[in-house]
Amino acid sequence: MIIDSHVHLHELSNTSLKNYCGLDSGYILLAVSDDLKSSKRTLQISLKCNNVVPAVGIHPWNAHKVIEYEIDQVLRLSYRVKFFGEIGLDLKFMAKTFQDQLRIFRKFLAEAERRAIGLSVHGAGAWKYLINELRSYRIKAVAAHWFTGTHKELKELLDYGSFIGVNSAIKIQKKSRNIVKETPLESILTESDAPYNYRGLVLEPETIQETIKIISELKRVNASKVQEAIVRNFQNFIKRAGVSNSFLDFLK
Ligand SMILES: [Zn+2]
Repeated sequence: MIIDSHVHLHELSNTSLKNYCGLDSGYILLAVSDDLKSSKRTLQISLKCNNVVPAVGIHPWNAHKVIEYEIDQVLRLSYRVKFFGEIGLDLKFMAKTFQDQLRIFRKFLAEAERRAIGLSVHGAGAWKYLINELRSYRIKAVAAHWFTGTHKELKELLDYGSFIGVNSAIKIQKKSRNIVKETPLESILTESDAPYNYRGLVLEPETIQETIKIISELKRVNASKVQEAIVRNFQNFIKRAGVSNSFLDFLK
């Protein structure tokens, strides 16, 4: 089983979605959302595909577009999910809307604490602030999606109990390779962030195999051992957010 802990399935066409839908596909995926519409779509997909853990949320890039009603509607979906995502803060691509991002992120954090919901967080250029916010809440399961922060921030996230999402961009992103070297294997999760295009590199679940190979070289651990560790980590991650035992059986 290949683990994709952060993927935007709602952006895929029905034809493309078929490749990842159902356990026969060989994937277990945590599907994140960007707004109300995509949150509903992700929920729909998860009803059809028994290998998909759905997450609802408002992407920090949408912070300036959403009205209060939409935020509340997404939060209301929380009774149907065990994860929020993609939520977070971004000072790298969207610094202008930071105050809106912060306000929305805090709403999700409060609800996540109240209902013991796990998170897939985005923190581009803002990991310092994101960690600060996390510290004000008790969140049981966190995955730092495509983490690109500093050594200090990595240590702080690991101390918080967060998992570190390693993206397929590791192929060309040197920073990402250094992060893998510094992160214990038991805290690493693989992810695609499909269908994003990073500097000409098309990110898709298929690229995760190569990520595992790179992690295995960096860690000097056999690729099958890395693969097993990541399945175990994902099990641990979703269990903390209260995903039912029947789902965990799929991973055996
Ligand atoms: Zn994403």
